[in-house]
Amino acid sequence: MANDNWEAVIGLEVHCQLLTKSKIFSGAATAYGAEPNTQADAVTLGLPGVLPVLNGTALRMAVTFGLAVDAQIAERCVFARKHYFYPDLPKGYQISQYELPIVSGGHLDIELEDGSVKTIGITRAHMEEDAGKSLHEGFVGQTGIDLNRAGTPLIEIVSEPDIRSAQEAVAYLKKLHQLVVYLGICDGNMQEGSFRCDANVSVRHKGESKFGTRTETKNVNSFRYVEKAIEYEIQRQIEVIESGGRIVQETRLFNPDTGETRAMRTKEDANDYRYFPDPDLLPIVCTADYIAGIRAGLPELPEAKRLRFEQDYGLSAYDARTLTSSRELAAYYEAVVKASGAEAKLCANWVATDLLGALNKLGQDIATSPVGADALAGLLKRIADKTISGKIAKEVFEAMLAGEGDADTIIQKRGLVQITDESAIISAIDKVMAANPGQLADYRSGKDKLFGFFVGQVMKATQGKANPDAVNRLLKEKLAG
Ligand code: ADP
Ligand code: MG
Repeated sequence: MANDNWEAVIGLEVHCQLLTKSKIFSGAATAYGAEPNTQADAVTLGLPGVLPVLNGTALRMAVTFGLAVDAQIAERCVFARKHYFYPDLPKGYQISQYELPIVSGGHLDIELEDGSVKTIGITRAHMEEDAGKSLHEGFVGQTGIDLNRAGTPLIEIVSEPDIRSAQEAVAYLKKLHQLVVYLGICDGNMQEGSFRCDANVSVRHKGESKFGTRTETKNVNSFRYVEKAIEYEIQRQIEVIESGGRIVQETRLFNPDTGETRAMRTKEDANDYRYFPDPDLLPIVCTADYIAGIRAGLPELPEAKRLRFEQDYGLSAYDARTLTSSRELAAYYEAVVKASGAEAKLCANWVATDLLGALNKLGQDIATSPVGADALAGLLKRIADKTISGKIAKEVFEAMLAGEGDADTIIQKRGLVQITDESAIISAIDKVMAANPGQLADYRSGKDKLFGFFVGQVMKATQGKANPDAVNRLLKEKLAG
């Protein structure tokens, strides 16, 4: 099959749960994992006579997102009722936004594999309430309904159909995920459904300007699944069209076990939902002052932080990107630099390689690191003031991870202080030379390569504690005879 003649067109809709303590229209809690229906109050249940009241924090978070993607914040926007029938939607409608969303017209820049930057348009982001959950496990011939999630605030972030491959889609999603977590408006937990994606996919012949008919694959909740689902869907659509078929606009489901998507239902049109402005809620008016206040409180965004790390700390783009991948990691790194007084590059190596490597092995993350920023700084201080060598520092770090105490305690207890006293190093060199007359003769007759052998022997004789610079210098002198 000639995939080369085809182009994929992809637009993503991301549902992002906002990190508020209470629901979007009531005071019920939003915490994940509670006993079913213990967080379903009268508003959540949609009992007659109750009225929704907008959660101000949810609005603030939606505006925060809009500002972070350079979008327009609506001066006036409204909620709308979106009608459909489903057991986990007790009111028979979802409160969402339709014609006047809070956020419109932003963008997110993603980096492609070849290093180039591509701008993906963000059509809109609107506020809405999450639905409840239907539970099938543990119920024979029945379905359980848990309404704890119903009414959890969401923003639905809709991209323009600017994405052209599964890889670009994943890059966009990762960028968006990083951003909402940075902003502190979403916990980003994909397993718990805090950040989930619907993928709209169509294909067309290359060079064609009209879009093909799309399908929408619902609720894919990991980056890897999104990639697989999109790849499967592109391939499927090409095959359908090439064998003379037609793509029907429909909603599909991804099955992670088979890596396939299958048709779920034909797609509703907007007029099936009978949208109309919700008469129970007042229009939202965002004044210029209100928006300016939120703008002033925006944290430093990942992109800006990465550039500052490159400039202020002289880091490579790669290191800067790694160290700014999360706010916690970036803060950890900056705390280490500040408290250790060690070179920024040395700190970067330790945090990005040694620390992250160790955390990865332990299955921990920066927030639960057994070695805190102050503790790591205490170790790097001892490299900087030459108390220990970089090599010995690795041993000390292992001991710190194992909970043996701070760097100074371990260095004292294990007697790891670096030997800088030249007479002690010279005496070790003398012993090594006396014990290896053959190698000495070979070295002196021109076998320069043996220098490394002598360095190794001296380090061994001093249990690795001799200052490497001093060993090199003194050994050169002594071997020369
Ligand atoms: P709906 O709300 O019915 O899902 P929208 O018009 O809001 O429809 O579009 C939803 C998503 O589908 C957007 O992300 C948009 O970029 C994407 N999209 C629209 N048309 C196409 C198409 N032909 N191929 C791929 N994606 C598309
Ligand atoms: Mg949709």
